[in-house]
This record gives sequence, structure tokens and C-alpha cells, in this order.
Amino acid sequence: METALVINCGSSSLKIAVFDGTLQRVASALAERLGSEEALARVNGTLSVILPSGASHGDALRRIVDSFRQQGILDRTPTVIGHRVVHGGEAFRQASRIDAQVAGAIADCAELAPLHNPVNQLGIEAAAALFPDVPQVAVFDTAFHQTLPERAYLYAIPMRLYEQWGVRRYGFHGTSHSYMASRTAEILGKSLEETSLISAHLGNGCSITAISRGKSVDTSMGLTPLEGLVMGTRSGDVDPGLFDFLKGKGLDAEEVHRILNNESGLLGISGETNDMRHLGELAAQGHRRADLAIKIFCFRLAKYIAAMTASLTELDALVFTGGIGENSAQVRARTVSHLRLLGFAVDDQRNARRGEDGRAIHSDRSRFPILVVPTDEERVIAREALAIARN
Ligand code: AMP
Repeated sequence: METALVINCGSSSLKIAVFDGTLQRVASALAERLGSEEALARVNGTLSVILPSGASHGDALRRIVDSFRQQGILDRTPTVIGHRVVHGGEAFRQASRIDAQVAGAIADCAELAPLHNPVNQLGIEAAAALFPDVPQVAVFDTAFHQTLPERAYLYAIPMRLYEQWGVRRYGFHGTSHSYMASRTAEILGKSLEETSLISAHLGNGCSITAISRGKSVDTSMGLTPLEGLVMGTRSGDVDPGLFDFLKGKGLDAEEVHRILNNESGLLGISGETNDMRHLGELAAQGHRRADLAIKIFCFRLAKYIAAMTASLTELDALVFTGGIGENSAQVRARTVSHLRLLGFAVDDQRNARRGEDGRAIHSDRSRFPILVVPTDEERVIAREALAIARN
């Protein structure tokens, strides 16, 4: 029986999932606050695993694998280990088996994602130490977007910045957008090669992608995951002139980075929280800035949906996913209300229904179908890792 162990390392967190050969999820675990005194792991949502104070990603991985074994979840070594790797630069157009050369290329990309790639490397090293004979596969957030045409990935800045340093739009959340494309094709009963969609991944990080006949042709995140939509704590697009302005006020690059990445977005506008569910509750109680944050989030998203139509000649569906996209009927309705001129329309009753995977929420008069499709990035990583291991 095949099993894939999926590892997703964040700066202080570690998500692990086990899938069987038919891509059924067998178990999941989450370790948080790694490196701190309060490091803690949860297996299958409930069972808590106490981690030593200051536990590393490697410590957490070992304890979680032990716990899986004790529960009979992982009684043999896995067939393959799939890692989420945030940045693959231009070196990776698809998932790749990790050997010395691939590991070196991932390290080279760390310059483009200094907060992410080094922790992804930690995960790879910890897994290799624990399972030295198991093949490891890197699945890149950027790979799906390597089909972007030049007109979409180049910025209007001197070409030497691209040629010397690789300054271009890479795009992220590729695993999720790629899953949206194949799942939407399945729902519509078409092949991937004949399916075109706009995929809106709205979680704590948010991005939107135009997918033409199964291929990514434009996306909102850029050189880094800061560009584009309003997010939980990230600003998305701002005037680049802001950097000069803030420098004039005495702020250095590090402070500006912190403001735009950690103190902006829904949190910055509302002054209360980056959590959309909480914002919805506050707005319902009359909190003006919470309502303003939701308003700006939806308006910016609608502008980007309209912008994505410039890259498409046909559209089979607008698809919402991620914690916000799957759960907030209010965000979906408010966003689509800005898109009347393009012919998008939501049906309030269908939009309010919950649960069902791949449900349609558009009204009968909508020019295009609008779907809600739960994403499952870990499952895509398992699928790609198993496919490579079988070859
Ligand atoms: P993710 O990063 O995909 O887990 O998404 C996290 C975001 O989804 C947070 O802003 C949550 O508040 C939001 N979210 C989750 N459930 C709901 C809900 N029922 N209504 C509104 N937002 C939600």
C-alpha cells in the first residue's frame, strides 16, 4: 500500500499530512510556535503532542511521526515525501525529485524568498535524516505560473534588473490554482486543456490567477507574495512612490517591510484583526473600520477579476477558494456586485448554502458560472510526489 507524507514548513510552523495511494487523507498534524517555549503539536485536530521547549522543525517532525506510528497510521516507511517549496524561480516548471542539484537550486532561490525557502530546506533536511532511503519531491508554489507570457511576467523597469537579478513576476499559490483548474474541469465535465477560469485563492494570503486552457497566463502576486490583492496583514499593491515617501519620514527598509507585510491589509485598515470571520462579526455590530476593511478587500478583488479577463479569450467559470473564498458568502456577494457590467451575478440563496464541494452560486442570468471549490494543496503535493515516485 502506497503512502505519501506531505510536509509544509512555515517560519514557526509545520503542517504534515499522510495520504494513501488513492489520495485519501489518512492523517494530519500541525506543530506551531516552533523555536519558542510554547511549541505544541496537534495530531488529527485533537491529540496534543508536547514538544520540548524551543523544539525545532526536525524535533516536531520526529515526534509527530512517532505519534503516527503509535496510532498505526504510518506503520511502514512512506513511499515518498512531498515538500511544499515556496520559490522555484525560473529553474522549476514542475515538481522535481530532490537530489543534490535540485537542493542546490532551491538554496539559490532563497534570495527571492528569504522568509520561506530556508525553512523549506530545513524540512527537507529533517525528513532526509529521518527517512534517508525515501525519495523526496519538491512541489513549488511558483511552478504553475512558469507558463506566464512575457507581457504578464515582466515589470516595466530596466530589463537589466530582470537579466541580472531575476526581477519579474513569479506568482505563488500555484499548487492551489493548479488544483482549482483540474477540479473545475472535472466539475464542468471538460478536459483541462479546454478549461479556462479565473481562480481566486482567498486565505490569509490572497492571489488571483487567469488560467487559459489549463495554463496560468496571469497572476496577481509578483516577485514576492506581497503584490496584488488586499490580504490579512499584507497590503497588496501600493504606489512604489510610498517607499521614498516613508524614507523621507525616517523609516528604513526593514520598517517598511514590516508595515507592508505584517501590519497592513485587513488588519491595517480595521485596526482590529486580520481574520475575516471576526471582521464580519465586528462589521455586523456596526464597527465602521471593520466594514471598511471588507469593502476595500472586495473592491480590490473585483478590480483584479476584471483585470484578469484581459488575459482570456473565453471563460468557463470564476472560482472562489481558500478560507475566505469558501466560507464568506458576504465577500463573494460584495465582490461580484462590482462586476455587473461584465455580466457576473450571484444568486443569494445559492451563495448562502454551505458545504457541498464545487457548488455553483451564480444566478440564472449570470453570463459566466461562479463556483466555490474547496482547495486542498496538500493533496496536490501528494499527487505530484506519488506520480514522480512511480516513474
Ligand atoms: P486560510 O488561510 O485559507 O485558512 O483562510 C483564513 C481566512 O479564512 C481567515 O481570514 C478566516 O477568518 C477566514 N474564514 C474562515 N472561515 C470563515 C467564515 N466562516 N467566514 C468568513 N471568513 C472565514
